[in-house]
Amino acid sequence: MHKIAILPGDGIGPEIVAQAVKVLRALGRHGVALELVEAPVGGAAYDAAGDPLPATTLDLARAADAILFGSVGAPRYDALPRPKRPEQALLRLRKELGLFANLRPATVHPELVNASTLRPEVVSGLDILILRELTGDIYFGQPRGIRAAADGGREGFDTMRYTEAEIERIARVGFDAARKRGRRLCSVDKANVLETSQLWREVVTAVGAGYPDVALSHMYVDNAAMQLLRDPKQFDVIVTGNMFGDILSDEASMLTGSIGMLPSASLDERGKGLYEPIHGSAPDIAGKNLANPLATILSAAMMLRYSLDNEAAAARVEAAVRKVLARGLRTADLHEPGTERVGTGEMGDAVVAALG
Ligand code: NAD
Repeated sequence: MHKIAILPGDGIGPEIVAQAVKVLRALGRHGVALELVEAPVGGAAYDAAGDPLPATTLDLARAADAILFGSVGAPRYDALPRPKRPEQALLRLRKELGLFANLRPATVHPELVNASTLRPEVVSGLDILILRELTGDIYFGQPRGIRAAADGGREGFDTMRYTEAEIERIARVGFDAARKRGRRLCSVDKANVLETSQLWREVVTAVGAGYPDVALSHMYVDNAAMQLLRDPKQFDVIVTGNMFGDILSDEASMLTGSIGMLPSASLDERGKGLYEPIHGSAPDIAGKNLANPLATILSAAMMLRYSLDNEAAAARVEAAVRKVLARGLRTADLHEPGTERVGTGEMGDAVVAALG
């Protein structure tokens, strides 16, 4: 029996997480035994307990085998002091749980090929995974600051820094993920200019010696940004550092054009993870039964694959989503002539029915 922390959060979070919970409960029919325990997070937790990540929620997240997270944030919390803001809950969870590996698949379902701004032949059948290191790099490196400069003005400075151990552990996640997919890993760096990247490339290459079944390639980040638009299907798994990954994963998500469809995972060293849709709390459509729950349902599928090691159940959920799309059901964000418009709850029910 796996214990799952369910953290719905704010805005559309509770609506979309409720659909993923329906799907997870329905998997009980297929032998997947889960104990689902819900707790407040974000603005909802601030309202209830004065803290976006109350100790009880953090304890639950620590004790669970995996966390399913909705989304946090709403305009009415924007004036709070920074430590009380809903977004802090996510940053603290990542830090407290050591979630260093961020996985973002970008998949284009055949039925949604027209949602992309790129030509259908460029994106149709796209299925790539961007793996971003999440806890190191120039975002956390010391020293950093703004100080007096030699010319009498000021200068800002940050430090790009990666240890061998940090590179090695993210590389392993990359090779392991590639093994579960198309067995190709592209490591993205800027080794022609940066010392950090030179070490990155050396260490990734050394780790690769232990994975002879995975084809490793290297690419400079500027070229990778271009190749993602020119021919994104050349990639299987991309592994890269925090800053390059920040930029490339957003670029890759837009290849699909459908923010309501994209799941993500953030994993620790033992494969425990936090799973969430890449979109935010969408306050503009919250509570209206308009939100697309599929990114959250697909996040639950990633949870089954990466933290619960149940590939069959993950594939079953993904197949159910494909079936529902093939039947022409669409939430408002993806609705077009010739398709049937459904609400958040109906979409969840349809996926449950399609599980078989
Ligand atoms: P957003 O992702 O919430 O919304 C952007 C646009 O996409 C909106 O028009 C929204 O209606 C639409 N959208 C998003 N998810 C959708 C879905 N599932 N179905 C249909 N349409 C969907 O980004 P934003 O508007 O910049 O931010 C809103 C709030 O979310 C802010 O408070 C922000 O801080 C927060 N946020 C939270 C997270 C997180 O919890 N991980 C991530 C990003 C933003």
